Parts: sequence; C-alpha cells; structure tokens
Amino acid sequence: MFLPDFEYYMPASVQEACALLAEKGPTAKILSGGTDLLNKMKHGLVAPEVLISLKQLDQLTSIAYVPDKGVVIGARATHNDICNSLLLQEKYLSLCEAAHHMANNQIRNVGTIGGNIVNAVPSADLPPILMALGASITLVGRQGERVMALEDFFVGPGKTRIAQDEIVAEIVIPDQPLTGSTYIKFGLRRSGALAVVGVAVAVTMEGNVCKDARIALGAVGPVPMRAPKAEAMIIGKTVNEELLEEVGVCASTECKPISDIRGSEEYRRDMVRVFTKRALRKAIDEGHV
Ligand SMILES: Cc1cc2nc3c(=O)[nH]c(=O)nc-3n(C[C@H](O)[C@H](O)[C@H](O)COP(=O)(O)OP(=O)(O)OC[C@H]3O[C@@H](n4cnc5c(N)ncnc54)[C@H](O)[C@@H]3O)c2cc1C
Repeated sequence: MFLPDFEYYMPASVQEACALLAEKGPTAKILSGGTDLLNKMKHGLVAPEVLISLKQLDQLTSIAYVPDKGVVIGARATHNDICNSLLLQEKYLSLCEAAHHMANNQIRNVGTIGGNIVNAVPSADLPPILMALGASITLVGRQGERVMALEDFFVGPGKTRIAQDEIVAEIVIPDQPLTGSTYIKFGLRRSGALAVVGVAVAVTMEGNVCKDARIALGAVGPVPMRAPKAEAMIIGKTVNEELLEEVGVCASTECKPISDIRGSEEYRRDMVRVFTKRALRKAIDEGHV
C-alpha cells in the first residue's frame, strides 16, 4: 500500500500552522503521529492534498503543572510520554494507566493525545478518562485561542467542533479535590484492541459520602459521553453496594450503543452496568486519582 502524493509542510510555530491551514483550505490536514491519518490515506479513505506536520513544534510536547490552571498536556505528547510522566503518575495515575493499555509500544511511541482526541473515534481511550477528570482543550486559530470543555468538542463519529484553521494546542486538567479515578476498558484482545466498552469515573469522597462524581463512557454512543443521571444518583449519598448497582443500571440505560462485529447493543449495555459499578468501587476504594 502506497501513500498518495501530497504537499508537505513543517511549520515552525502554531501560528504558521494555522495560517497554512487557512490558506490551503479543506484539502489540508494536520499530521501529528500519523498512526490514524497515514493508515487512512494508505487505505484510500482520505486523500488530503496538503499535510501540515506538527513535528517541529516541541512546545506542544510538554507536560507541566501551571499554578491556577492545572496540569497542561501539549497536544503532541505521545501516549508513552503520558505513561512515563512523573507528574501525571503522581497526580493522575488513571490517565497514565489508560494510555498504557492502548495499542502497542510502537504506536504509543508516536500516537499523540491530540490525534486521539481530534480523530473523534467513539471507542478512543483517552477522551472518557479526560472527561471524567474534567479536562478542557485549548484550540488555537488565526483569530486567537478558545477553550472548550472536552465533552463539548465531539459532534459525531469523526466529527468535532474544530474550525478549518484551528489546531488543538493543549489539554488542561484543572485542580480539583478528587479522591479517586479510574478507567476500565474491555477489548477483544488483552492489548492492541479498540475498546468494546470503556468506563471512566472520578470521585470526591468524604468518608462514605460521595461529594462529587463524574462518569464518562466510551464506545457506547456516537461520541464519548457523560452519564449525568447516574452521576446525580450517587452525588450526596452514602455509598453502599446496592447504590453502586443502581448507578450501574442507570448508566446502562443512559448510553446509546450500537450492535457491531465487536459486540451487540445488549451486551454493551450490560458491560456498562458491570463496569460502572466496578469502576466506582475501584476509584472509591483505591483512592488514587
Ligand atoms: C495498531 C493500532 C492500534 C491502535 N490502538 C488504539 C487503542 O487501543 N486506543 C485508541 O484510542 N486508539 C488506538 N489507535 C488509534 C491511534 O493510534 C490513536 O488515536 C492516536 O492517538 C492518534 O494520534 P496521532 O498523533 O497518530 O494522530 P494522527 O494520525 O496524526 O491524526 C489523527 C487526526 O487528528 C488530526 N490531528 C492530530 N493532531 C491534531 C492537533 N493537535 N490539532 C488538530 N488536528 C489534529 C489529524 O489531522 C487527523 O485528522 C490505534 C491505531 C493503530 C494503528
């Protein structure tokens, strides 16, 4: 399989990349790790005439804590950058674990968090855990930058609210009083398989009482989604096994799965019930964020 011909640019700044996107129009695409885009091009699924690589933009690979903002992850940080970040291991181990269970080592070495988000595949692994952690994204275009909650970014499979001249520059996880979080994924193989169901939760506990909870689901709808009714069911309550079961049942009625070769709608709903309960129990018991 050969790649079709394309023009290739390697801008030296985010502004230059945005200007190129605007100038070249809809036939131009950003190239980050290329694990999704180059595959699609080889299979003839897309044929951009212009590729604008982020390779030279080293500032987009940083992972740092910024006071009054939170943990800021550059869009070009790879999955292995996330797994290996001491800052993330200390503050959001659940994100490192989610990245660690993606794909294989070669793909994790080049695939990026920005590509995983902008690709907008319903089964992508990072959006659910990032949404549970309350992440926002910073979009930069010719007109300046705008910040959007990650959960508002997705419109449908492969569709997002990004504008023609914009790139995702960074992902921000705000400071918050979380006490635990986790992401549980079920794929058809132990590694290298896309999620059939993914459930992420983040909780804030005071003793046995749940003060706050976010539940985000992947691969069970056209976009990664929150389960607001299930969240409302646990917030403010004393947690016991019966309540966790009820919350799982509620989440399974809120999701919108389809049947495909990886699993039926009924199976996915039941997995959401089981995984939501399991993920909440794990986040509450282990208490690491
Ligand atoms: C064998 C294999 C296994 C995989 N396993 C998994 C898995 O387990 N879980 C999972 O979630 N994914 C998996 N993937 C999918 C893929 O590796 C990830 O989605 C990866 O994070 C994509 O990042 P990238 O940098 O390679 O994106 P690219 O391929 O470079 O880009 C993807 C899309 O995003 C756009 N884009 C990229 N970065 C930006 C940016 N900063 N701003 C604007 N637009 C941007 C590109 O224009 C393109 O449309 C797998 C892929 C392969 C080939």
